[in-house]
Amino acid sequence: SSDGQDELLAGLNPQQLEAVTYRGSALLIVAGAGSGKTSVLTRRIALLLREREAWPSQILAITFTNKAAGEMRERVAGLVGDVARGMWISTFHSACVRILRREAEQFGFTKSFTIYDSGDSRALIKRLVKEHEADAYGFTPGAVQSRISKLKNELTDAEGYARQANMSDPAERKFVDIFGDYQRALQKANAFDFDDLIAQTVFLFRAFPKVADTYRRRFRHVLVDEYQDTNHAQYSLIHELTRPPSTDSAPEPYASNGMMIFEPAPEAEPDAPMTGASLTVVGDSDQSIYAFRGADIRNISEFERDFPGARVVLLEQNYRSTQNILSAANAVIGNNFDRKAKNLWSDRGAGDRIVGFTGYSQHDEAQFVADEVESLRRSGIPYSEMAVFYRTNSQSRALEEIFIRSAVPYKIMGGTKFYERAEIKDALAYLVAVANPADEMAVRRILNKPRRGIGDVTETSIARFAVDAGISFRDALRSPGALGVGPKIQAAIARLDAVLDEASAILLPPSGEVPPATSVAEGLTVLLNKSGYFETLRASRDPQDEARLENLDEFIAVARDFARNNPDGSIVDFLTEVALVSDADDLDDESGTVSLMTMHTAKGLEYDAVFVTGVEEDLIPHRISAGEPGGPQEERRLFYVGLTRARKRLHLSLAMTRAQFGEVTVAMPSRFLQEIPAELIDWRQSPGDVNSRGRQSAAVNGRPGFQKYGGQGASTGRDRFGVQALPKRDSLKPLSTAMDRFPNKVTGKVRDNGDLELTAGDRIRHDDFGEGRIEAVTGEGAKRIAHVRFDTAGQKKLLIKIAPISKL
Ligand code: ATP
Ligand code: MG
Repeated sequence: SSDGQDELLAGLNPQQLEAVTYRGSALLIVAGAGSGKTSVLTRRIALLLREREAWPSQILAITFTNKAAGEMRERVAGLVGDVARGMWISTFHSACVRILRREAEQFGFTKSFTIYDSGDSRALIKRLVKEHEADAYGFTPGAVQSRISKLKNELTDAEGYARQANMSDPAERKFVDIFGDYQRALQKANAFDFDDLIAQTVFLFRAFPKVADTYRRRFRHVLVDEYQDTNHAQYSLIHELTRPPSTDSAPEPYASNGMMIFEPAPEAEPDAPMTGASLTVVGDSDQSIYAFRGADIRNISEFERDFPGARVVLLEQNYRSTQNILSAANAVIGNNFDRKAKNLWSDRGAGDRIVGFTGYSQHDEAQFVADEVESLRRSGIPYSEMAVFYRTNSQSRALEEIFIRSAVPYKIMGGTKFYERAEIKDALAYLVAVANPADEMAVRRILNKPRRGIGDVTETSIARFAVDAGISFRDALRSPGALGVGPKIQAAIARLDAVLDEASAILLPPSGEVPPATSVAEGLTVLLNKSGYFETLRASRDPQDEARLENLDEFIAVARDFARNNPDGSIVDFLTEVALVSDADDLDDESGTVSLMTMHTAKGLEYDAVFVTGVEEDLIPHRISAGEPGGPQEERRLFYVGLTRARKRLHLSLAMTRAQFGEVTVAMPSRFLQEIPAELIDWRQSPGDVNSRGRQSAAVNGRPGFQKYGGQGASTGRDRFGVQALPKRDSLKPLSTAMDRFPNKVTGKVRDNGDLELTAGDRIRHDDFGEGRIEAVTGEGAKRIAHVRFDTAGQKKLLIKIAPISKL
């Protein structure tokens, strides 16, 4: 049925066509950005379904974000209709949660286990580091956390690590103890951390081959997008899933709440031994940007070894970007030395040149972005087709300030931010305390939130009573009289206990009845109302509490949305969804807004117009990458990802000075800028404009593309910064020569206010933020911090010693 008019195959180039229609056991599609990898994966799934080569339930497709999963599902549905609903299109984490919830009871967990996000596991590790007095060995919670995470990504568990550790080293012994205790604490709390979700699924499959076999029989097609960013644990999971089933028992149909229904493919011969699932992976080693989280490019290079007979398809035509954008990206990535050269081309035409801009400060840079956004919109590009990227989250602040002032609608991609707020964490802890009472951390978190007079001493009494009585911390709340605490505290505990029970009756009715999905919002409202949480915030005069109330309202709205989208959803489903919100999943999907996000989050996305901001040394490549093996190369790939998101318009901007944490530093143009052929960039205001006016021309780096103009022949009036504009140029001399232009402001890291006397009530002036009033001074010596309420710039905390401030 694949004639030339076939809509599913229409417009594909020969390599894409081969990739969509290939029917072997293993297929690797390697190709540069925008060459249609994700599109090919989507069409391949659609074709399998339409040709009835597979049932929806037999397909497992892995995407990098929940958002990407949603989009792929929609596209497949658009191509073949509603059958797409039964498919597992999800992230690794979501797929593993589904498997683990089904199988949890096999290994000592319950279906309602909690998922610890990075903040939760950090809190637990912090407690353990303290208990073990491990800071004496130089352990910080963060370092322990990332070490445990790395080990788990390598599939090394606590016992495995203990066996190979050098136990004669006391620091090593400490780590082994903490790792072990951490794992035991998770198990006791009926919880998995993020890395566990993958690792424990692999362990489960290895420990219970029969369990593994059910999934091997079920999934006949496994497809993985963004394969270059899989780590060892994820790779092993793919391996486990695509092995031939090892036992010869007949496939058994599932009927657990309609989640999995096994339907043999129509043409399957029941007696024939089943082979492993067919595996399709697509990736681009030039876009591997998660090595720091254990992703391993070797997963691509060794694919052919691990899957003998695999077909490899290369795609070389880019359908996304204009040639200018592509040429810039190709030139940059060409500087990485450990890669295979690619020949990526586009027939979209040369297109506009890349626009370059150098601001004096990040505010200046942000103003350029905002102005340019407005002008693009007037030229017909909608806000939703524009995106602004940065390397680190903290860079978004300046952009946001200017966007708000300029009334440019925007959203920050990075839903995790919302869920990291203390009040949202509190609300979640209330829900978890009901859904998974074994999760002691959650119950402890809400014990005195809002304040109800339950202090540390009482908390310890509860914990001790629970241990002595052999019951959970949660259940200890049921016997306040036995805790040896005063009557007021007993009453407070009894009230909390009653609130949790009341919510539990709504969310997990003792009748065993399945509550409607709306019960989540209802239960949440009860918890926040009856616990006094809302009341305390409403009674507060702190303006921040106002914002907290709004956030909680928003959270209840999220719960209502959930009910609309998942009519059969339970509280556990809701908590899963929330726990798996990732950076790329924005809360609401407004279309009329500009998207702001980190370059990491931008992976896989595309926009008509893209702004890559902060193109400076120490930002991209980031300072922390300098010491890492392969660090600068990974940063180059990250930059490449940023550039290749743009369809038509690409902007690269930087600031000469960057104020962060009360410190103004001099910025230098990123080395990556110099790797872009000069003729591709149209500098609206170049580094040369602002640092070398009137100086002699000089070649930079000896490259012809970086010939510097002098000031001769210049003069096109003054720009809005009062600086005389010069003709277009391509100079990229380090900006340190600009120091003399900012005698007071640009001081690198050397500004020193000595022992500037400041007390609450004083008025000060700040170089960037203007005038303001000191509200409090905290800390000591070089770490003294002024809490300032600026007249126009809002509240800020400044390090007094180095902030560019003076007393009025
Ligand atoms: P990335 O590496 O950034 O993930 P990709 O290789 O997954 O990119 P896609 O996102 O699938 O690329 O495709 C890039 C763009 O090119 C999309 O807008 C897609 O619709 C379009 N495209 C892909 N193949 C074709 C084709 N044969 N004809 C026209 N447009 C195509
Ligand atoms: Mg893609």
